[in-house]
Amino acid sequence: MISEETHPRRAAHAVHVDGVTLGGRAPIVVQSMTNTDTADVPATTRQIAELARAGSELVRVTVNTAEAAAAVPHIVERLDTMGVRVPIIGDFHYNGHKLLADEPACARSLAKYRINPGNVGFGKKKDSQFAAMIETAIGHDKPVRIGVNWGSLDQALAQQLMDENAQRAQPWDAAAVMREALVRSAVDSAARAEALGLAPDRIVLSAKVSGVQELISVYRELARRSQHALHLGLTEAGMGSKGIVASTAALSVLLQEGIGDTIRISLTPEPGGSRTQEVVVAQELLQTMGLRAFTPMVTACPGCGRTTSSFFQELAKTVQDHVRARMPEWRISHPGAENLTLAVMGCVVNGPGESKHAHIGISLPGTGEAPAAPVFIDGEKAVTLRGERIAEEFVALIDDYVDKRFSAS
Ligand code: SF4
Repeated sequence: MISEETHPRRAAHAVHVDGVTLGGRAPIVVQSMTNTDTADVPATTRQIAELARAGSELVRVTVNTAEAAAAVPHIVERLDTMGVRVPIIGDFHYNGHKLLADEPACARSLAKYRINPGNVGFGKKKDSQFAAMIETAIGHDKPVRIGVNWGSLDQALAQQLMDENAQRAQPWDAAAVMREALVRSAVDSAARAEALGLAPDRIVLSAKVSGVQELISVYRELARRSQHALHLGLTEAGMGSKGIVASTAALSVLLQEGIGDTIRISLTPEPGGSRTQEVVVAQELLQTMGLRAFTPMVTACPGCGRTTSSFFQELAKTVQDHVRARMPEWRISHPGAENLTLAVMGCVVNGPGESKHAHIGISLPGTGEAPAAPVFIDGEKAVTLRGERIAEEFVALIDDYVDKRFSAS
């Protein structure tokens, strides 16, 4: 684990969300959001359970209709019956004030509310509807995320800042005005919530955009002007490698600067793909940066002309899938197993060297090498595997190592 000096965390108010702490130098929390119809209780419960089992420490659901609001207490109850302990956050837009007032059971059973100041209400109703939501949060002792998004930015504020900008001797460019509007919307809304009686340690802020450089600029400014816990995420990051790379590029810069208390990776799932991918990416981002550990990491070489079969790729996948599948059980029975490092290498060039750096590594034979795969444990050559059962035998060695080194008993 990389030291605090390398990653100094920004001091932020610690916000407690049903046993999960955001800010206050607590470990950075992974969160995600469902994409089911919240009114569909079985489907939403199932997906929340999948996300929680994958490692999501908070799960947000949209609460957009009376049916969705009425479903929330049933979802929370079912999760409880299933033994799934994960705080559920309600995502409100436009009609949140009404839904929270009409469905007090929903207001009670949620662990946190997300309020978007850009669409909480328009014209004269904006202030009263925002106040109604904050008062509900205070009444039920719930924290709130004030979540600004450039796709639904407060238009009255944006217009006001544009007018002010026009009066400047040297006007800012349009992008700078937009960034200022995002930051101002977040910090002014937080100040308003505090004036209404919500404590600073019940407020989380976010200001999401979909451009990497814009996001970095906005969050640096938000961190400079606020002590509230920050939720980081690149909104509408996209699909597949583009979404992963863009989110990682933006978030890693900010996390390295100590900015960010909880992260969400907003990936568009491939058709038929699992929603849990965004949780895996968030965990891998934090783990590869040395900020947290969730599951054993497999180092594998990319392969080259010295590997003419796909066996080492298959073995790397088998090993990664195996440790990820075992981790929920290991987390309880073998604490610390998440720090295990593994190497699966394709030939003798870097194979033994890289394998010695891992707790357990295997160097498979490349083209023209003798059909033998030395295994290194804690830097020492322990055994050489041969034949058809290399994968099974290597996986058994991993299980054995975890048992001996990390057993809780
Ligand atoms: S370890 Fe061997 S097989 Fe893997 S990339 Fe390097 S040279 Fe190629």
